[in-house]
Parts: sequence; structure tokens; C-alpha cells
Amino acid sequence: MPYKRNVYARAVYQEPAPIQDHDNPFQSMMERFDIAAQILELDPNFYEYLCTPSHIYITAIPVQMDDGRVRVFQGIRVIHNELRGPSKGGIRFAPDVTVDEVKALAAWMTWKCAVVNVPFGGGKGGVICNPREMSAGELERLTRRYTANLINVFGPERDIPAPDMNTNEQIMAWILDTYSMHQRRTASAVVTGKPIVLGGSYGRTEATGRGVMTVTLGAMDRLGLRPADCSVAVQGFGNVGSIAARLLAEQGCKIVAISDISGGYYNANGIDIHAAIDYTTSNRGTLEGFEGAESITNEELLTLDVDVLVPAAKEDQITAEIAKGIQAKIISEGANGPTTPGADEILNERGVLVIPDILANAGGVTVSYFEWVQNRQGYFWTLDRVNRRLDRIMRKAFEDVYDAAQKYDVSMRIGAYVLSIDKVARTLRLRGIYA
Ligand code: NAD
Repeated sequence: MPYKRNVYARAVYQEPAPIQDHDNPFQSMMERFDIAAQILELDPNFYEYLCTPSHIYITAIPVQMDDGRVRVFQGIRVIHNELRGPSKGGIRFAPDVTVDEVKALAAWMTWKCAVVNVPFGGGKGGVICNPREMSAGELERLTRRYTANLINVFGPERDIPAPDMNTNEQIMAWILDTYSMHQRRTASAVVTGKPIVLGGSYGRTEATGRGVMTVTLGAMDRLGLRPADCSVAVQGFGNVGSIAARLLAEQGCKIVAISDISGGYYNANGIDIHAAIDYTTSNRGTLEGFEGAESITNEELLTLDVDVLVPAAKEDQITAEIAKGIQAKIISEGANGPTTPGADEILNERGVLVIPDILANAGGVTVSYFEWVQNRQGYFWTLDRVNRRLDRIMRKAFEDVYDAAQKYDVSMRIGAYVLSIDKVARTLRLRGIYA
């Protein structure tokens, strides 16, 4: 082996996926779809079209294991909709992936891309396997055969994968190489989330946290708050939380609390975020033992008297019980699904402005789009250009969702679904149904 490959590293950026809160995830997606369809008085003829995946591929992936045995894995790729452009969506490797889950995630990508107005449809893929039990060589053979089996499905103008659960830059590099070998040319735009040296984009690592910062500033504007007067609490200090905290601090906000799995850290005078990031870098990624703040519990952090709360750790953190004690005026959902449906209702009644995950953490898919554009142009943008364009798109998406929520008198969460389903339905009306 000429160099060491980190095949198990977690991707710093993943094409965000919703949390499945239902036994049948497709059903769970449909419940939200139905609310938005009712508000929009969606034409019944369009209803069925828009909730049915356009293609479902299931493929057998034989892999020669290191011990000489051959194991056959099941690969799935679902394309939900291509009305607005090629389908886009990550690939997950996990033992419990199901077709229903991939169908739901693919549909969700359609709505998500429409929220930020990037010209993609929705897709998602999965392979039923346990990557932790596989060697680097086995994973490489699995990835290449999955790609070869779907060679006519993938393509820069057709269907563009990205990292998701248990897949990362190295897996994307193998997909790129396999696809390119079959095409007899290097086709870097066939995947996003690639290493920069293979055509990845600057700004991708920071994209999700940066998007959280931009929509939070949008919400402050709408509520007449100045960043310099706002205090912020951030739950979770990983990729999304630490970058959102740093960028909000750079905008003048006072970050009074941060947390990670080791607990919460509070300082009424403001925490030095650069010092906290440096500390985690030299402390195996954790805030444990961080000085310059007093210890608080996770629950205390969520119910602090702050202007903005950024949940950026994991799902189901803001429960109905916690929601009753929330004092923040704005909640900016960096994490996927941090607020339970029960809490949603209470926050709505209490007038808290919740920027939903489907919008707040869409910075990642937006920079995926930039990566694809740069690959097709063969011209690479500076970090500054990526950031300016990301800010512009996220700000516009925030304003559009805010206006949709006002227009239909619904929460921003429902507003985001209404806006995106309406965009796809209007595209369908104009294109018509080919028969
Ligand atoms: P990460 O693993 O880099 O960081 C997670 C952080 O949360 C860590 O600091 C961890 O210690 C902390 N944490 C975990 N459990 C906690 C708890 N119970 N209380 C407090 N802190 C806790 O992950 P990330 O990439 O920053 O993702 C965070 C969330 O954002 C996830 O929900 C993810 O799905 C979502 N998201 C991430 C991206 C992305 O591009 N990375 C994009 C969209 C959505």
C-alpha cells in the first residue's frame, strides 16, 4: 500500500438527511407533504405524480471478501424526481438501510433542493452492509461494483451522488474513478463531496455552519434585532456548531454558552470561540475541561435567557417539556430534526421563530451544487466567491420561506414545504406530462 487511506473517516460534510420519526419513513415524509398539499390545494392529478419516485433500482453487488468467500450485498438507488434537473443525493452504507427509507430520503432531497432553489431533483442511494466490519479493499470493491452496476443511472447530467451516513471523500473518489474508467474520460462532476485535489470545492467544510449563520442574521433582521445586541447559545460543538458559533461571534453576537457530549459551558460575558476551537483541536475534539466558562447542564443551555438558540448536536433535543422553558426568540436548526413535533406546536404558540432544518442546514447541498458547477466549468472559484454566493442563496431562501410562512399563516417549517412543493408543481405544470 503506497499510502495510508482513511476509509472509515466520517465525512465533514454530508448531504443532509432528515430524521425518520416513523416506522415507515416514506409515510412520515408523506404526512408533511399532505399538509403542504392541502394548503396549496394541489391538483389531485399532480399529487400522485409528485409523491411517486420516478425510478427505483435494486442491484446485487457480489464482492470477493478478503478470506476468498464471495458475499452478495444489496444496493439501492432511488430517483424521486428529475423535473428541475438531474437528481442529487447521498449514498449511505448501513446494515439497516431499507428501500422505504431511501425512497423517503430521495423525496426529501427533491424538496430540499427546491427550498434553496438549486436546479436538482432528488435521489438517494444505499448499500445494505456494515462498513465497520469490512476492510478497505472490500469497501473499495463494493463501491466500484455498485457504481459499475449503476453506470447508466449515474452521470453529471443524470444523477449525482454525495457522501451520507458511513460514506466519505474516499468513497466518492472511487465512484469518480470507476465512472470515469467506463466513460474513458475524467468525469469529476459525477459526484460531489470529493477531496479538493480531485475537484472538490473550497468552503465545503464550513458550508453548513455558514448557512446557519446567514439564516440566523436574516431572522434577526426580520425581528429588528442587531447582531451586536444578541446573545447566543449553541448546542453541539462539532462541524456545524463550532463553525456557526465562530461566524456568529465574528458578526458581533455574544456566544454565552456552548456544549458538546461532555456537557455545557456558560460565560455571561461571552466565550472566546477561537480559544474553544483551539482547545478542542488539542483535546481529542472535546470541550471537556475547558476553562473560561462555568459548567451547566444540557437542559440549562437550551432554556437559557438568550436571543438565539442553535441546536447543532443531534435529533430530538427540544422536547415539549423543554419547549415550555425556552426563552430564545430565534431557534436556528443546524442539526437535523432537533425539535420534536410536540415541541413544535408549543414553540409556535409561544411565538418563537424556528428556522427549520430543511432550510437552516441547506448550506451543504448548496455548496454541492457549486462543486458540480465548477467541475462542469472546469474553472475553480476562490473561497471568497463560494462564500459570497452561498450567503446570497441562503439569504434569499430564508426570505422566501419567511414570506411563504407569512402568506399562508403557518410556521416556517410548513412554509418551507409549501414553497418547495409549489416550485416543483409549477415546473410540472409548465413541462406538462409527456404521454
Ligand atoms: P459532529 O459529529 O461534527 O458534531 C456533533 C457535536 O454534537 C459534537 O460536538 C458532539 O460532542 C455533540 N453532541 C453529541 N451529543 C450531544 C448531546 N447529547 N448534547 C450536547 N452535545 C452533543 O456532527 P456535525 O456534522 O456537526 O452534525 C451535527 C448535526 O448537524 C447532525 O444532526 C447532522 O445531521 C446535522 N447536519 C450536518 C451537516 C454537515 O454538513 N456536517 C449538514 C446538515 C446537517
